[in-house]
Amino acid sequence: MRPDGPRDPYAGPEAGPEAPFPIKLCGPVIKGFGRGSRELGIPTANIPTEGLSTTHPDLPSGIYYGFVGLSLKSCPSATGASSSTSGSDSTTSPPSSTPAASTAVEPIISIHPAVLSIGYNPFYKNTVRSVEIHILHDFPRDFYGAALNLLVLGYIRPEYDYVSVDALVEDIRIDCAVAARSLDRATYQRFRRDEWEAWLTDFSWMDNVDTHKLEREMLNQKE
Ligand code: ADP
Ligand code: MG
Repeated sequence: MRPDGPRDPYAGPEAGPEAPFPIKLCGPVIKGFGRGSRELGIPTANIPTEGLSTTHPDLPSGIYYGFVGLSLKSCPSATGASSSTSGSDSTTSPPSSTPAASTAVEPIISIHPAVLSIGYNPFYKNTVRSVEIHILHDFPRDFYGAALNLLVLGYIRPEYDYVSVDALVEDIRIDCAVAARSLDRATYQRFRRDEWEAWLTDFSWMDNVDTHKLEREMLNQKE
């Protein structure tokens, strides 16, 4: 159960990520359990967990934060005209494009802060481990099939069992604020630049993804 009391506004050391971070994960966005948006109002992009099982099998379950590099190239349905994008946290928009850009098109490649859960989600009594990523950005539409690079930079908290969905949602809202604040520190911001930016925006692994297998997996996971 979740402990009572106020939560720490920051997670992770002020000096920057420490071992085992940063952790790199890549994968196409697949269908999850279909409950993120519908039940909680907090959509989570799911990616396959094979990468994590091989590189960090002992990583504790819990809530983490980091940066996401996203390529919408492989999901053309996501690249139409946008209705709710400011573009202020994307890599491909000019720095001055802060006003609400109601007619802007979502950039194909972008980098965003994100909060994610790794684990079994005890509230839902899941039997398989999942990586579910809530990107701190408003997207005009779904982006299943998009290529996603994830750089995990810190740990926020363990997973708890909740008395209600409301209590769960309240904690996730706090996680989002903690993640945004923690990633805003200069010692973390540097992980969206230089060689890290190059890695976050390198989607060449997508060439090796078996799209037919992926489609089958998506269908299997849907129900
Ligand atoms: P699923 O169970 O299939 O993962 P969700 O209800 O969790 O369904 O919704 C996740 C989907 O919502 C993602 O795959 C993505 O296409 C879309 N989405 C839209 N906005 C976001 C966002 N800010 N963060 C994560 N996913 C988002
Ligand atoms: Mg999801």
